[in-house]
Order: sequence, then structure tokens, then C-alpha cells
Amino acid sequence: MPDYPHKNLILAGGGHASLPLIKMGHHWKKKNLSVTLVSAEPYLVYSGALPQYMGGFYEWHETAINLKKLCERYGVEFIRARVDSVDSQKQLITTETGQELGYDYLVINVGAATKADAKSENIYPVKPMSRLLRLKEKFESGLCHNLLILGGGAAGTEIALNLSHPGCGYQPQITLVEKNSRLLEGFPLRSTEIVTGTLKKRGVDVQTGAYSGQPDADNFDAVILATGNEPESVNISHPFSNGSSNRILTDRTLLVHGSNNVFAAGDTADVDDAGHPQIGVHAVKQGILLRQNIEALHDGKPLKKYRSYPINPLIISNGPDRAIFTAGRFSLSGKYFAVLKYVLDMHWMEKYTLPPSDRRSRVKLIRDGLQRALSARPAS
Ligand SMILES: Cc1cc2nc3c(=O)[nH]c(=O)nc-3n(C[C@H](O)[C@H](O)[C@H](O)COP(=O)(O)OP(=O)(O)OC[C@H]3O[C@@H](n4cnc5c(N)ncnc54)[C@H](O)[C@@H]3O)c2cc1C
Repeated sequence: MPDYPHKNLILAGGGHASLPLIKMGHHWKKKNLSVTLVSAEPYLVYSGALPQYMGGFYEWHETAINLKKLCERYGVEFIRARVDSVDSQKQLITTETGQELGYDYLVINVGAATKADAKSENIYPVKPMSRLLRLKEKFESGLCHNLLILGGGAAGTEIALNLSHPGCGYQPQITLVEKNSRLLEGFPLRSTEIVTGTLKKRGVDVQTGAYSGQPDADNFDAVILATGNEPESVNISHPFSNGSSNRILTDRTLLVHGSNNVFAAGDTADVDDAGHPQIGVHAVKQGILLRQNIEALHDGKPLKKYRSYPINPLIISNGPDRAIFTAGRFSLSGKYFAVLKYVLDMHWMEKYTLPPSDRRSRVKLIRDGLQRALSARPAS
């Protein structure tokens, strides 16, 4: 093995894209590269699982990754702090507490936050997800009966489907308001028909073409804002150029424009000015590329380029027993998609929450998913 000079990699934000890098901790230590995660939260909420967690169909351990524990397992230093600024000249970041940390390589993966014009105790933006966790406590304490969801895209609709499912213990009265003429605008019309029909049958007041912009929070026990996000990097002082929607501009290797040691990925990055949608599929795939490119940079080898999937399939859960699968122009709904979602969700989660010996095989996951879907109270 060549002699490596000591270098350190800082991960600013423990988003979906950072997880594969944390798992390299021990391996990179052998190459004299140490890794530090600086994260605003001690856990990462897996967004794919959150709507079912809100409905009471996933447990906490099936929804959140304990970042501190993950770091301990792979020999990575964990610092719980919000990153406030990046100085690329001095190669250091500063946290909210004023702590300065020098880096040789930096990854910015701080995700996105929901744009919220109005502020009120009653308003719960979908991002960051810690606020929604508090809303779940409010449901469980019987303090939320009347819920407004603003935004009928994938996030707002999936939360509405899970909270209105017959198996959900609290089932608030839901009003779902979307400014476009239909729910799931941008997805096939068939998916809109499926979700709108299901929600209306359950008594959800679906209003389309009707978004006022200012939530009337006082008329509801809670308002969920699912009206679109802005990158969290806008809250960090940094010298880098922004691409579309103020996301940090990178080239296809995920290196930030004009830098040879700072990467950005996930919702906070705009790769090659392509304006990819802010979905976890990109963040997860970029995490794999980051792992390869950081190692290549450290080894002095050429970096690879990001290639997105030609289509990004999405599975929208409707409780534990049904889901809507949409890809390209197709949308289908059924029990087997709920099983598929369970298998994909749990396979991904267990990679980051359990040691290899405790992870379930795919066969076991399929069996467990089938049993879960068949024994659930039907979605109706
Ligand atoms: C309800 C809902 C459901 C969704 N379902 C899906 C789905 O099924 N499929 C899909 O592909 N996408 C889905 N998405 C989108 C998906 O959540 C995002 O695209 C994905 O989380 C982006 O990952 P990321 O790596 O950019 O960052 P995130 O995973 O968002 O993580 C960012 C992390 O950075 C931390 N952080 C923020 N600011 C700072 C700071 N200044 N300093 C330090 N740390 C900081 C945060 O605490 C957070 O842990 C969903 C979104 C929502 C809201």
C-alpha cells in the first residue's frame, strides 16, 4: 500500500448521500484518511418511511437512523452541530457554536427545508422532518383532530393517505389543498385518479386549484406545509456558485464548481445545472458516486461522472397493505407494491441501523412484508 499523508474529510450534514461515506470509516483510516460528520441532528429520518411512521405503520427504529451510533460502528467522529459557514481559502468550516474545523476534503449534504412564509406553533413544514415528529406526538395525545395539508404533491398526498387509512389510530379530519388542478401534478393522470378517489372515499376534503398561499392556521389544530423546499445551503455562508433554485452548483463528478476538494450532493446540490428534482433517489445514487470519487481523489485517480437513472420510479404508500407504483407514464396500485416498498425500505434501513449479522435476507423481508400486508386492516 502506498504511503498516504494524513488527510481529513468533513461531512457537513448527515443526509442520505453521506451514509455510504460513513460506512467507509475503517477502510479509509487504513489509508490515513479520517472522517468527521457534523450534523444538526443526532439521527436521520428516512423520508421514504416517514409517511407510514406518521400513520403508525412503521416503528421509530424502522424510520430513523441513529447517526451517532453509525459513526461509532465505523470509526467516524460525530459532532452534533449546525454548520454555519465554509471558508474555502482557509479550508475550514465553522459551526453555530463557533467551533472551527479544518478539512482536506469536504462534502456538503445538508438537504432542504420547506419554504415557510408564515410562522406559527400550528405549522409543521415537512422538512426538516423533526417538526413532523412533534406533530405525531400531538396526534397521539389526542390534541389534533382537524388537519390542513397544504400541497398535494407526492409528500403531502402520501401523508394524507397514511393519516386517513382505516388502520391509523387517530385519523384526523383532513383538508388537502393543492394549487394545481389535480393532486400529483407531474405524475401520470392514473395516479391522481387513484389517490383522489381513495382520499375522497375516506372523507378527506380534497380541494384542487385552490391554494391561497397563506395558511389559515387558526382554523385547524395543525397545518402541514408540503409546498416545496429550498436548499439548506442558503442558510450557510459559503463562496460557491449556485445553480437552479439556489442549489450549490457542481460538475458531474459532484465537485463544486471551481473547487478541487469540496463536493456537494443531494437536495442541496445542482449537478451540472441539470435541475434534477429534489428526490432521495438522486441523493442515494450520488452517495455511491461520492464514495468512489473521494477514494479516487485520495488515491490520485480520475473521478467518475454522475449519471441519473433514465426514469425514477416512485412508490407512494397507502398504509401497510397498499401502495401506488408510478414510473414514467405508468401507475398501478396494489398489495404487492406495498410489499415491494417494505422490502426496499427495510433493506436500505437495515444497512445503516444493524450489523451485517442481524440484517434480514431478502427472502425473509419478502415474507415479513407479505405477512404485514395481509394481516393489516384493509386500505378500503
Ligand atoms: C414526506 C416526504 C416523503 C418523501 N419520500 C420520498 C420517496 O419516497 N422517494 C424519494 O426518492 N424521495 C422522497 N422524498 C425526498 C427526499 O426526502 C429527499 O430528496 C432526500 O432526503 C434528500 O437527501 P439529502 O441527502 O439531500 O439530505 P437529507 O436526507 O434531507 O438530510 C440532510 C441532513 O442535513 C442536516 N442539516 C441541515 N442543515 C445542516 C447544517 N447547517 N449543518 C449540519 N447539518 C445540517 C439535517 O439535519 C439532515 O439530517 C420525500 C420527501 C418528503 C418530505
